Amino acid sequence: MKVISKHIQDEHNPHWKFQLGVETYQTKDIQDRVEKIRQKLSTDANFEFVLSKDFSERFIAKLHPYHDYIKKTSESIKDPKEEYYPDLFPGDRAGLARKSDNPLWGGIWCTDAVTPIMQKTYRVAKASAECALTGAEMIAKKAEKVVYALCRPSGHHAGPRVFGGYCYFNNAAVAAEYLSNHGSVAVIDIDYHHGNGTQEFFEERKFVFTASIHVDTADEYPYFWGYAEETGKGQAKGRNLNIPLKKGTEIDQYAQAVDRVVDAFKAFKPDFLIVSAGFDTHENDPIGGFKIRTEDYKLVGSKLAALKIPTLICQEGGYNIDVLGESVYNFLSSFL
Ligand SMILES: [Zn+2]
Repeated sequence: MKVISKHIQDEHNPHWKFQLGVETYQTKDIQDRVEKIRQKLSTDANFEFVLSKDFSERFIAKLHPYHDYIKKTSESIKDPKEEYYPDLFPGDRAGLARKSDNPLWGGIWCTDAVTPIMQKTYRVAKASAECALTGAEMIAKKAEKVVYALCRPSGHHAGPRVFGGYCYFNNAAVAAEYLSNHGSVAVIDIDYHHGNGTQEFFEERKFVFTASIHVDTADEYPYFWGYAEETGKGQAKGRNLNIPLKKGTEIDQYAQAVDRVVDAFKAFKPDFLIVSAGFDTHENDPIGGFKIRTEDYKLVGSKLAALKIPTLICQEGGYNIDVLGESVYNFLSSFL
């Protein structure tokens, strides 16, 4: 299996996030995440590392109206240690404010204070999307059946209006948009958190089916999206499937949720499958609250592999670096 990455993915290196009132936390999206996955996969000759291609920024700008804002803000930062966080969020005045390109108005585009822009952020976020695009191109051209894009930063919280949750550009959505020119696309998001950005991109698109299995957002990020009654809009009614699960969910119940998605995809008959693969569902993840064990990812992977659809797997979350490599390895091995 091809593993697509770019060697600059550790250059985006934020240290802080501001969350839950007065407390300040060290960010969990640390640079080492990519390296741990790389180290584990490199122990098995079935995985072949390739560098991502360069793609025009229009593939990203087409989906994200804040593309230029992130680019300009990154380029304006002189100190590589500086982390720019918005401190004002316009709420329902955002429509008016979006006419500005004043970098101090970052709250127009960013939902939270955990997703700072640094000097290298644009370059690294673009590279992450290019990993997904490289994989998408491979399966569209039938050069590969299953490809893994080692994306960092993650993408699934970045949407058509705003970014946040450690995500800048939606790697899976950029790939889905690309693949939708070649056939119908099903996207399953198995990160602990709801894939709100991905859902929002495609909830009115009939030929892109999005599904997400995640912790109930009534009391977890991203809060305002992810409920079971969000089933798609207009001609795409029935093309979005959200399966919120309670904290503490173990593999038996989780596997039933995967089966529900697999059944829905079988009825939809997609030409391509994209997996937004987050591993913060792990029982020892510092952010997540599910009880999925390292070996359980083999079962989750095998259920999706059994669909036998050309598949692009995009890395999303997963923050316990002691178990991340092994968890990813178990999941991917099911597709070999
Ligand atoms: Zn997550």
